[in-house]
Amino acid sequence: MLPMDDRDGTIWLDGALVPWREARLHVLSHGLHYGTSVFEGERVYGGQVFRLNAHSRRLIRSARLIAMPFTLSADALDAATRAVVDANGIADGYVRPVAWRGAEDMGLSAPDARTHVAIAAWPWPAVFGAAQRKRGIALVLSRWSRIPPAAIPIQAKAAGTYLNGAIARREAEAAGADDALLLDDRGDLAEATGANLFLVRDGGLATPIADHVLDGITRQTVIDIARRLGLRVEEARLPPTALETADEVLLTGTAYEITPVSRIGELRWPVGPVTRRLITAFDAEVRDEHAT
Ligand code: PMP
Repeated sequence: MLPMDDRDGTIWLDGALVPWREARLHVLSHGLHYGTSVFEGERVYGGQVFRLNAHSRRLIRSARLIAMPFTLSADALDAATRAVVDANGIADGYVRPVAWRGAEDMGLSAPDARTHVAIAAWPWPAVFGAAQRKRGIALVLSRWSRIPPAAIPIQAKAAGTYLNGAIARREAEAAGADDALLLDDRGDLAEATGANLFLVRDGGLATPIADHVLDGITRQTVIDIARRLGLRVEEARLPPTALETADEVLLTGTAYEITPVSRIGELRWPVGPVTRRLITAFDAEVRDEHAT
């Protein structure tokens, strides 16, 4: 893989497009030391960012939730994002907006640390290959639980919370799996390291309530699609035993899109008819719906 800091192209940094290799920050940045950074992951389909305004609004909400001053509007973020996608000629790819507290102040509360914002975009194929998506991925049940909402505002897509997923994912891959499934602090099913969880049972969908997991934008899209298709969708607390009675299991996320799960430990699932219907409808939606 090309190193992320040594590529051609331009990155939007604090209001201007700068050459890719010059988009740098100082080693004493507050965000690096304490995780005071918020970010987004967005996907470009046919040159358009899917649900761009929803992502821009979530970035601003994330900043507010971690008490990070943030002055850019969602419309300004949308415009900057489009400029980055266009400048780099991205037809199908990924966008990473990130905002962090700078090196102006290293104290923990750092009243003088400025908020810096960068937006980068690059062509990025699916996280899991087409073959994997066809047959489903293998998960392990992680020994780590998701960070409880009483510890960190988990609806903030904040860098600090991703230490949890980074450790879990590394262990999962070392164990030969593709990703980790984490339980929440109450022992209920939560989510994978970068995706929400859905179970298919009795022809309908069940997914954890978004109070101990991120309320993913893809999760919301899939719930809407399922309801439009006439499928029942239940948001509930799901104990791990719910996996044993699930007919199909799938993950949803910007990077994962809809990824079927074929295996967790001893449990196995086919890529079933409900998952296939959802994938077909989702693929149509991301190509057709360019409105936010
Ligand atoms: N949960 C976590 C922990 C995530 O990092 C992501 C990716 N942002 C998701 C769920 C899915 O969210 P979205 O559909 O908004 O990408």
